[in-house]
Amino acid sequence: MEQDFTIKKSNIAGNGVFANKEIPKGKTICFLSGELCSLDEVIKRVNEGKEEPSDPLEVDDEEYLDLDEVSRTFNHSCNPNSFIHGKNELIALWNIKTGEEITYDYSTTMNDNEEKIVSAGRELWTCKCNCGSENCRGIIDQFKTLTKEIQQFYISNKFMPDFMLKVFG
Ligand SMILES: [Zn+2]
Repeated sequence: MEQDFTIKKSNIAGNGVFANKEIPKGKTICFLSGELCSLDEVIKRVNEGKEEPSDPLEVDDEEYLDLDEVSRTFNHSCNPNSFIHGKNELIALWNIKTGEEITYDYSTTMNDNEEKIVSAGRELWTCKCNCGSENCRGIIDQFKTLTKEIQQFYISNKFMPDFMLKVFG
């Protein structure tokens, strides 16, 4: 998938993934990939310092993809131009121009089991947001912390993974 994208420094955070050609709205951009892990395994790896708390992508209840290097390079935006469909399919939310950075809203995948994470001695992962969009929320946090209006936008358009639609839809 690398030929469709360029990975380079992003104004949002670290490196980002940029489109090498126009991507029409609704088109599959790629499937995010990585090793499938249980929440217990993710907690273990983070506690052992083997991985960053920001790397695993929640794809089902207590099920995560430990994202590979390219997949975890996609940055978050509070005004994203793509979304995750099904389990790990990244789809263009609108027409993406050549050279535009491809982003999705991390919060649409975040419904972590707080009780389990806290009882394992960790806090829920959050991150200061630097996406620069007009509607930037300032922090990347769990889906339930979003306003009802923003939640409804993602739910009614099905701009979020299946397991999240099952919980919130
Ligand atoms: Zn933001």
